[in-house]
Amino acid sequence: MEIQTLSSDFSPAPDLIPVSYLNAYVYCPRRFFLEHNQGMFEDNAHTVEGRSLHRVVDGKDPARASKKGDAIHRRSVSFSSMSLGITGKLDLLEEKEGSVLYPVEYKKSKKPPKDRQPWLNDQIQVCAQSLLMAENGLPMPEKAYIYYIGSKARVEVSLSESLLEQTKQTIAQCRLISRSDILPPLADNRNKCFGCSLNAICLPEEEDVSKGRKTNARTIIPMSMDGDILYVDTTGAYLNLSSGSIIITAPGGMEIGNASIEQLREIVLFGNVQTTTQVLHTCMKNNIPVHYLNFYGRYVGTCSPMLHYNGLLREAQWKAHFDKLLSFEYSKIIVFSKLVNMRTLMMRYLREKRTDKDLESFESIKSINKQVMNAENIQSLRGYEGYGAKIYFSRFGDFIKPEKQSFFKFSGRNRRPPRDPANALLSFGYSLLAKDCTGTAIRVGFDPFCGFYHVMKYGRPSLALDIMEFFRQPIVDSMVLTAVNNGVFRENDFYQFQNTCYLNEKGRKKFLVQYEMRKRDMITHPKFHYRLSYERTIELQFRLLGKSLLNEIDNYEGFSIR
Ligand code: SF4
Repeated sequence: MEIQTLSSDFSPAPDLIPVSYLNAYVYCPRRFFLEHNQGMFEDNAHTVEGRSLHRVVDGKDPARASKKGDAIHRRSVSFSSMSLGITGKLDLLEEKEGSVLYPVEYKKSKKPPKDRQPWLNDQIQVCAQSLLMAENGLPMPEKAYIYYIGSKARVEVSLSESLLEQTKQTIAQCRLISRSDILPPLADNRNKCFGCSLNAICLPEEEDVSKGRKTNARTIIPMSMDGDILYVDTTGAYLNLSSGSIIITAPGGMEIGNASIEQLREIVLFGNVQTTTQVLHTCMKNNIPVHYLNFYGRYVGTCSPMLHYNGLLREAQWKAHFDKLLSFEYSKIIVFSKLVNMRTLMMRYLREKRTDKDLESFESIKSINKQVMNAENIQSLRGYEGYGAKIYFSRFGDFIKPEKQSFFKFSGRNRRPPRDPANALLSFGYSLLAKDCTGTAIRVGFDPFCGFYHVMKYGRPSLALDIMEFFRQPIVDSMVLTAVNNGVFRENDFYQFQNTCYLNEKGRKKFLVQYEMRKRDMITHPKFHYRLSYERTIELQFRLLGKSLLNEIDNYEGFSIR
């Protein structure tokens, strides 16, 4: 038998640093680390606009020469150099008679004022491109250009000895960091963080507060999430792709809706809704997760883009999961905050009455919670949580206005299937929240199935359920109570049969509107004291957990409403 060996063509790709990352390094070394080493990327208005402008700039035929006036243009030309350790794609390689070729880098911004040079990070980027050209057999250019799309003007960059030296040093620094797993410090000039698309991942202000370097965080991260969520719950509906939009048709073929891919953040499909492979491919390519819920609204799973690059985060998560002590510490934080939230909601809804029974309920949860942080083992912790939940749900019916209690009679939590309208609303809301927490866990880079408090079980997104505990009361319970007390839901919004009760299509539509509004409600964060939406708060809670697992902050705190 002949044994074949792999030729050198199959050896792993060399660890070359893309030139655009040098730009990130000069902006802030931490940004380089997050983007290059951890694969972090987050769009903001600047990056979305820049990408769409680049699509125009890139052209259709990479490197093909075309004549433009007295110049020859080649677009999207790629070069690599093992000896420099970098790789890069040049937006434009220009050649004019009597001069050597030079690179032109496109930037979406306006050109700098006359008395100011282009930003150093941009100069280093074009200088590195020039070095790549020289390494690939072309003459070393003496100059390069930056074309500012915002001003439709180009600025010359002279490739001086000192710029070449700085570029080489930057490459050397980047190569050092690329082999390290130590997070570089925050940017020297912290004003840069305002324009940095990674600020909601890096969390510079939150890190300062958590480390006790300041008490209030400046609002640097975006307060709410961009993009829309497309919900489709028409039985038999069909999703198809046409000119960058998703077209939704009803079973008879009639178009019932459409959504532009550029505007979408995620898609949620209920029950028997079909999609084409093209829709799924486009969603994966554009980082849009597609969540599946069954006909009754139970979360089934998520079709998400490739696993997040940040394997280091998942490694830390798994280590903490197997570290019984550490896992128990996180579990205590989860239960503690959940009980605080239950008590706070009880106090809000029973504010006016304050009968002896009410006071007793408040006190009982408070005293259980005092014991939570001193719980000796996970069994007693589960016991405290169960007891607190029992008290809370024994009073939940009293949070509903008396005139609504005949239909929304609540005599305890029941599920799978829910047996009454109030439980049907809670179950549907928890299912949506589980879907949101799972999607966020995946997007942030976690393994949603590996948690701390929730036991690992086939198909159970334990980590998502852990983080969800912080938000059950503030998002779902409080939204359900407000909607019920304000008469949003009526009898004809539910199916009721024997001992089961579900929202029907009309009821689900109402619920989704209320739920999305609730997620977008702005709150003042209890620790950082800035305003942000609930959905951003969920993401923040995951990101802080990541920072805690990677030892970037000292304490992880739960999320408790006040
Ligand atoms: S947010 Fe600030 S510190 Fe963090 S990567 Fe961006 S510029 Fe650097």
